[in-house]
Amino acid sequence: MTKTITVFKGDGIGPEITDAVLKILNAAGADLNYEIFNVGAKEYETNGKLIPDAAFASFDKNKVLLKSPITTPVGKGFRSLNVTLRKKYDLYANIRPAKSNKAVKTPFDNVDLIVFRENTEDLYVGVEQQIDENTVHATKIITRAASERIIKDAFEYAVAHNRRKVTCVHKANILKMSDGLFLSIFYDIAKNYPQIKADDKIVDNTCMQLVMNPQQFDIMVMPNLYGDIVSDLTSGLIGGLGLLPSSNLGKDYAMFEAVHGSAPDIAGKHIANPTALLWSACMMLEYLGQDETAGKIRRAVDEVLNEGKHLTPDLHGTATTEEYCEAIIAKL
Ligand code: NAD
Repeated sequence: MTKTITVFKGDGIGPEITDAVLKILNAAGADLNYEIFNVGAKEYETNGKLIPDAAFASFDKNKVLLKSPITTPVGKGFRSLNVTLRKKYDLYANIRPAKSNKAVKTPFDNVDLIVFRENTEDLYVGVEQQIDENTVHATKIITRAASERIIKDAFEYAVAHNRRKVTCVHKANILKMSDGLFLSIFYDIAKNYPQIKADDKIVDNTCMQLVMNPQQFDIMVMPNLYGDIVSDLTSGLIGGLGLLPSSNLGKDYAMFEAVHGSAPDIAGKHIANPTALLWSACMMLEYLGQDETAGKIRRAVDEVLNEGKHLTPDLHGTATTEEYCEAIIAKL
């Protein structure tokens, strides 16, 4: 039966890249129906709600969401909608694969790593307290339950996909109790997977190692904040944020989105690269068992990237979002 999914068109470049991706999904023959909603800062200004009730109800029902980026005010205003969604639907596993593409030249070849970011706690619980005029405390939460499930998922993924190693990234030298708990759970769980190499690195060293020798990394698992920062770094290794997809998985719900934000600096210019959202849609198709369609799209994207004739400016081309999209559809 054709699967109905919920689609959130967000802010900035969100609507442009969503339109491009839906066109490509249709051209590839994805067996999907769409319930499409405007959400985000613009929707708030017009209708007074960041996410309309009907949009929530649609995700409640369909349980699969393709989401484009949403603007979050810095230092003031409403809480990040992304954090709200991840928390509300318990989308605890944020999986961010960064893989080199031969067609995209960067100083790094053969990068093939996946960040497993814990998605529901750490400093992102957003609990801040004004102690006095000059002092603010922020609360970092690490629990056994949340750590166990993301670490276990990382090892299970490694087994299922024939990966060789899982690295735990932490700051347990300073945060001895919180990151210390995450690290000790990591090594407890690693004992159940003797076929997978397990090691750990402190997060600052990890960043240096990633730009010196990224090929040493395979699967990486870490608390929320490090996952956010490290995965933007890994996008830089493979050609930038326009190429980094993600899935946000929970027990009952799944959300697929690009790692990048709403890119207000290029919004409306029709130069955004939709690949990250498109590859997120491919992860969604695979999640739904539509591997063949996902494979078709991945091959078409590879061909267009390899030809190099219709690349968006972030990949040093001159094509518009729409021209790049049409080139992919022509390959399909
Ligand atoms: P950003 O990811 O939006 O942009 C960073 C840089 O990367 C910009 O120069 C931008 O032009 C470029 N870029 C990003 N995506 C691109 C694409 N698809 N094609 C070409 N270039 C691309 O980060 P930011 O500017 O720090 O954040 C902007 C807003 O997005 C903020 O309000 C932030 O809170 C929000 N944000 C949302 C999400 C999300 O919805 N999941 C994630 C990150 C940031």
